[in-house]
Amino acid sequence: MIVKVLTRNFDKPDSHTLAVYEAGGGYRTLRKVLESWTPEQVVEEVKASNLRGRGGAGFPTAIKWGFVPKDSPKPKYICVNADEGEPGTFKDRHIMEQDPHLMVEGTILSAYAIGVQTAYIYIRGEFVLAGERTEAAIAEAYAKGYLGENILGSSYSLDIHVHYGAGSYICGEETALIESIEGKKGWPRVKPPFPAVEGLFGCPTVVNNVETLANVPLILDKGAAWFAGLGTEKSGGTKLFTISGHVNRPGLYELPMGTPLLEMIEEQAGGVTGGKKIKAVIPGGASCPVLAAHELDIKMDFNTLMAAGSMLGSGGVIVLAEGTSMLAALLNLERFFAHESCGQCTPCREGTRWIVQILERIERGEGTAGDPDTLIDIAEHMAGRTVCPLGEAAAGPVKSFVKKFRDEFLPGPGPDAGPSGTEHHPQVAGQDG
Ligand code: SF4
Repeated sequence: MIVKVLTRNFDKPDSHTLAVYEAGGGYRTLRKVLESWTPEQVVEEVKASNLRGRGGAGFPTAIKWGFVPKDSPKPKYICVNADEGEPGTFKDRHIMEQDPHLMVEGTILSAYAIGVQTAYIYIRGEFVLAGERTEAAIAEAYAKGYLGENILGSSYSLDIHVHYGAGSYICGEETALIESIEGKKGWPRVKPPFPAVEGLFGCPTVVNNVETLANVPLILDKGAAWFAGLGTEKSGGTKLFTISGHVNRPGLYELPMGTPLLEMIEEQAGGVTGGKKIKAVIPGGASCPVLAAHELDIKMDFNTLMAAGSMLGSGGVIVLAEGTSMLAALLNLERFFAHESCGQCTPCREGTRWIVQILERIERGEGTAGDPDTLIDIAEHMAGRTVCPLGEAAAGPVKSFVKKFRDEFLPGPGPDAGPSGTEHHPQVAGQDG
């Protein structure tokens, strides 16, 4: 069942403008909160709403905010993660292109809750339209008194700066994003210290995803109970899912958290192209372990997918129809991870390249009987042994693809002699979302 909560303005003409946003009640919540709510009340309301981060990890948002030390004499920062580089994911770009004021108002309200006076929006450089519309929205908000000194006559002040990334996947990792804003090479930092204590410019910092922050005005307008009721017991709200791959209607769909995966594919995305059966689904973006056909009767929420050995991730659902070469699909993914590895730690730098080399050898028809186990062994020595989650992200697909489709990674005829109907997957490419 499609719902229109986050996307309620998307279909309106000029939905990205302040006039349309205000006509739909935009910035009404900001005025209400600045007039009569304390920052602590905002945090409590968001906590009660069960809002969990939409960037991939699904960590409870208000708890993350709570890690920022209240008594720190240093300035505090919010960094909005608009880098969105996970293949299969293109939801934040839509928010910025179609309703950027929702993100801006959410950023202001969240900054108020944490006591932040300077926020940065870190946008993937290739998102030209999203960047233009975000900058225009910020300018409109300044002109109307929603940003700057003494917002709407209150004692609260906030500035927002836009910072563009150069297209590195790893700059979507929060500490690499912070390094990049500081003007350095986007290398993830060793944690601890965590950004909440020592982040941007050595100061307490919260990094939140665009979709996460876009939910905050809605929660504070309609109430935590309403928001929590839209989702599951442990995860409130709706979710923006991006469905791609072998489906008839790929695109962005807003659905209640916990919507069954098969319903999503059949009813929203129009089923599989050519009337084929589903062979497998990557449920939450390229780094999430793949689900085989017998595992697809599942609800799409953080806890259910984790219990099934995968992840909701960023909500990028990639559908693979029967006939898809899982070898080619995995090779495509792993080339992406090898290319995007920053090279800082050996298991990720070397492991991703070894995996690509082995998969390429199998694809040439030169595989050995030991290759599936070698692939899994390499992946298991990467996961949990790296500075940032990219090692884990690259390892998860290898383990799940090879364990669930082992036959396709054993020696056999080369690709030219492959079974008819075998096709390379068009969407699982090393592309940004
Ligand atoms: Fe860099 Fe990979 Fe190590 Fe992350 S896991 S810090 S991307 S080498």
